[in-house]
Amino acid sequence: MNTMLATAQASIRQAAKDLGYDDAKIEAFLQPEHEHVFEINVGGKIYPAYRIQHNSKLGPYKGGIRFHPNVNQDEVQALSTLMSLKTAAANLPLGGGKGGVAVDPKALTPAELEQVARGYAHYLAPYVGSDKDIPAPDVNTNGQIINWMLDEYEAVVGKKDPGAFTGKSMDTGGSEGREAATGRGGVYVLIEYLKRKHLLDQPFTVALQGFGNVGYFFATALRQECPNAKIIAIANSKHTWVNPAGIDVTKNIDGVDYPRPEELNDLQNVEALVPGAIIGVQADVLVLAALEDAVTGANVAQIQAHTILELANGPIDQEAEPVLHDKNIAVLPDVIANAGGVIVSYLEWVQNTKGEHWPEDLVNTRLAELIVPAAHHMFKRAEEKSIPYKQAAFELALERLLS
Ligand code: NAD
Repeated sequence: MNTMLATAQASIRQAAKDLGYDDAKIEAFLQPEHEHVFEINVGGKIYPAYRIQHNSKLGPYKGGIRFHPNVNQDEVQALSTLMSLKTAAANLPLGGGKGGVAVDPKALTPAELEQVARGYAHYLAPYVGSDKDIPAPDVNTNGQIINWMLDEYEAVVGKKDPGAFTGKSMDTGGSEGREAATGRGGVYVLIEYLKRKHLLDQPFTVALQGFGNVGYFFATALRQECPNAKIIAIANSKHTWVNPAGIDVTKNIDGVDYPRPEELNDLQNVEALVPGAIIGVQADVLVLAALEDAVTGANVAQIQAHTILELANGPIDQEAEPVLHDKNIAVLPDVIANAGGVIVSYLEWVQNTKGEHWPEDLVNTRLAELIVPAAHHMFKRAEEKSIPYKQAAFELALERLLS
């Protein structure tokens, strides 16, 4: 069993036991409802493929499809289990699933990539659909790949069903605001937390690890929504840059829409440090929007922030979590903090089933209407029981899933 699956199952067992559920019920929940394990043949090359449908108590399975050479059944099972908790914690009428193909998409021609996508959807066509299982993009998959999958699926089942996949391009029924949703949702969660702690009315500083899809849109939404916030450090996989005067992510030397940190005006005369330096930057809030295990037992002592926002999945390891709790550093956990992506996927599905296309403002309003109450339930439970926010979110999700 891989570490991620073992860790996810251990946290669930602990939280469910604390709530008083018996072992048989917990073990039955951990077992996925359906495991589709198959192969995709492209020109004689065989790629192992998976779709794990973990739990559908609350609605159709929901979760992304990952194309990566390291994809394996245990990893997909772990991610599908965490999706069941995420949709439940966000109070969505959806279950949890995840999929993947063990393939390096960078080594494929565009025609081969299309064949992998179509092969995946062709095999799974009987098992997915807007009322059964609704896949979405994940690592190395995008709107184009999802469009191919939807087209193949509709050809096999012989009917139009645009709500069967989310993350589609805009011209095939995608939602406004989907690209920015995870970062924007993180901003809403952070604002609610700071309001609750009476910290929102005063200026505060932010260090941001990761400047990809999630990190960039977090930074732009923070600028729009939170005038008291000042981003003073940004890191990507190559460097950390610190500018105590503040970094305006909307201004860059080439006027591009989606700049890299080194293109930002405010980072032109700033010395580049090693990527790991971001963890120890003196800022009030540390935002983790890069990869898993960014904070470990080895670097947790460097953290100076009073609050950490987990936008990546699992960016804090098991060893570091209790250290942060003991030091009273608040961790706003991935299960709620990065739920904006799955929430707007849900809103895309709602628009498709109603035959509507909403403007971005309305999508953002609906996102806030869903993520803010979910965050408040978590804060309240954690405060009542003096437990970490992650445990509180797991408990609330498990009560919905196991009752
Ligand atoms: P991305 O590939 O667009 O960006 C990742 C960023 O992290 C890049 O800037 C990269 O340079 C940086 N990075 C990588 N290694 C680093 C390191 N060692 N130190 C500092 N920075 C590093 O990915 P993304 O879509 O922004 O996703 C980021 C995280 O958020 C992932 O964990 C992903 O699973 C999670 N997530 C994404 C979404 C979504 O909607 N995209 C939804 C939920 C969760």
